[in-house]
Amino acid sequence: MKTFKSTCCYCGVGCGVVVTKEGNGQLSLEGDKEHPSNKGMLCSKGMNLHYTVMDQSDRLLYPQMRLNRSMPMQRTSWDDALERTAAVFKTLIKKFGPDSVAFYVSGQCLTEEYYLVNKLIKGFIGSNNIDTNSRLCMSSAVVGYKLALGEDSVPVCYDDIEAADVIFVTGANPAWCHPIIWRRVEAHKAANPHVKIICVDPRKTDTSRSSDLHLQIAPGTDIVLNNAIGRVLIEKNYIDHEFIAAHTDGFSDFQEKVMQRTIAEAAELCGIDVADIYTAAQWIGASKGFLSFWTMGLNQSVIGVNKNLSLINLHLITGKIGKPGNGPFSLTGQPNAMGGRETGGLANMLPGHREIVNAEHRAEMEQFWNTPVKIANKPGLTATEMFEALADDKLKAIWIINTNPLVSMPDINVAEAALNKSRFVVVQDISNRADTVKFADVVLPAAAWLEKEGTMTNAERRITHLPKAIDAPGEALPDAEIIWRFAEKMGFGESFNYKNTSEVYDEYTACTAGTTIDVTGVNYQLLKNNRSIQWPLTTSFKNNKTPVTGTKRLFTDHQFHTKNKKAQIHAVADENTSEPTTPDYPLVLTTGRIRDQWHTMTKTGRVAKLNQHTPQPFLQLHPEDAKNRNIKEGQLAVIKSRRGEVRVKVNITEDVRPGLCFLPMHWGKILGSNLGRANNLTNNLVDPKSKEPDFKFSAVEVTLY
Ligand code: SF4
Repeated sequence: MKTFKSTCCYCGVGCGVVVTKEGNGQLSLEGDKEHPSNKGMLCSKGMNLHYTVMDQSDRLLYPQMRLNRSMPMQRTSWDDALERTAAVFKTLIKKFGPDSVAFYVSGQCLTEEYYLVNKLIKGFIGSNNIDTNSRLCMSSAVVGYKLALGEDSVPVCYDDIEAADVIFVTGANPAWCHPIIWRRVEAHKAANPHVKIICVDPRKTDTSRSSDLHLQIAPGTDIVLNNAIGRVLIEKNYIDHEFIAAHTDGFSDFQEKVMQRTIAEAAELCGIDVADIYTAAQWIGASKGFLSFWTMGLNQSVIGVNKNLSLINLHLITGKIGKPGNGPFSLTGQPNAMGGRETGGLANMLPGHREIVNAEHRAEMEQFWNTPVKIANKPGLTATEMFEALADDKLKAIWIINTNPLVSMPDINVAEAALNKSRFVVVQDISNRADTVKFADVVLPAAAWLEKEGTMTNAERRITHLPKAIDAPGEALPDAEIIWRFAEKMGFGESFNYKNTSEVYDEYTACTAGTTIDVTGVNYQLLKNNRSIQWPLTTSFKNNKTPVTGTKRLFTDHQFHTKNKKAQIHAVADENTSEPTTPDYPLVLTTGRIRDQWHTMTKTGRVAKLNQHTPQPFLQLHPEDAKNRNIKEGQLAVIKSRRGEVRVKVNITEDVRPGLCFLPMHWGKILGSNLGRANNLTNNLVDPKSKEPDFKFSAVEVTLY
């Protein structure tokens, strides 16, 4: 019997787990009591994590390829698969330039994998065409943090929960999607009944049901609400004049902006009571610790960056940031979205939170990597742009790693047509259930969680080491090894000559020297000794013998990472620019998660216990909207948008507001049909700054089937 300490590979909470491997190879799993992020607790997904690697019935076992899409896939060797892929990439790059190829990766990739793909395409191929499914998840928060605080850094930590007396949850359902954080919130509230929880969500959820105040706003009105709260905070003099004067810019523009709309107007637009806006503002203003949490309700919006800014503004005008229990906390959806950001895993970034558009940053990485080409000075294609470019034949080849865009992309039929039309598709995945496999020219089998070694960073900047505990099935290889083997086939072997991922990690940490996320000196042994390490580090303790101490919260000195060290308050317009509803499409559709499934279900969909909670997709519809359409509980309905349709059973419930309906995002094609695929309906509008899609607001109509 052997035990391994690892991290749950689902959500960004990053819970520590202890895996026990019996002599007969059977695995069991429990929460790690020594891991500070979860202290032994696990949610239903985490508790059943080991089943996803024990059931290997759908695993990709060996490389496959075909010469054209009308031919069946054939088993091949790693050398042949990678040599052919390299030959195609070299031909396309020679003929059409480096921007003719792209990598689309995942927030589930380990830090080392993210780093290697970035190094390969940005430093050696000479294109910035790498983006990640995190673009669909938290890129609005990235831009919001940068614009307001000068850096994409979550300024708070989980221990702030117990120091807060007002917890403001907006556009999120952590009771289902970040359950271990929510259990801490509930325990804190139970021990301290004076603590107030405010939930802002157009839906009633388990989170709203355990809140003191639920602001069930109309979809798309988040900024109206936040600006109205800002106005009350000013009028009731709950703002911190000293903090504003010493540490922020932009207050007078903000004040002018929020005074343009009365609280009564705001309440009407939001569809809530005036009194509730005053109550929320009063609780926030009088609090000692104001902690806000948000996820996709703010991020996945055509005005996602402004929604983020409008929330951060509330912390800045009250000075409730950089102190225990205070600050804006973007909950990351994926286990290593943060690690991806650190290694520059977006089309506009470079490792160490460097920027593509910054010439100094490019020069630093060119020198560090000793690149044979100049790093391109413009950001590459973002997630949705990649599929548009494939459709236009501007992008010729795409390599998709550990993500399933044919379930997760908006306006999915367009993305599917683009992939079908594209010249060359490589799919690197663990599962043959990934919807992309059937469009691939080359399929590469990847090792799964527990079958490879590396690191991840969770939502509170905590890095944890994940050991290899079991062998991958068949010929599957760790993702990092696939990339360094491919780089060698491309002729870059000298710069990708790694023996293990520990060497990759050491190289990555070295390139962070002197940056705001400097983790030089951290290595696998230190991570194992300390169980986990938060950045930024207390630098004087960085060596192999002494425990490394991370910093729990940022900006405690109120020196922000902008040029003048002041945080920026942004006066943001409150109009929503989503697709308008019309008489033909009068309802707003919002999409989201259910409790026991993860993303596109390639892992959780195989665990019988998890499927019991909600075995089928469904549509939540308000009783008034159901009555107007003569639809009864459990009947099959057709949901149509301007882009496609979905057919699912209806759940009539007052959990959604009138005029709003909700569909889970997890299901792809069911038995070959796309009847439950929510993204048949969503639209391709994106936030202009973050390029994050507007998943939470599509105009639809619902009729009885
Ligand atoms: Fe895993 Fe997230 Fe659940 Fe923790 S809360 S066990 S990280 S899914």
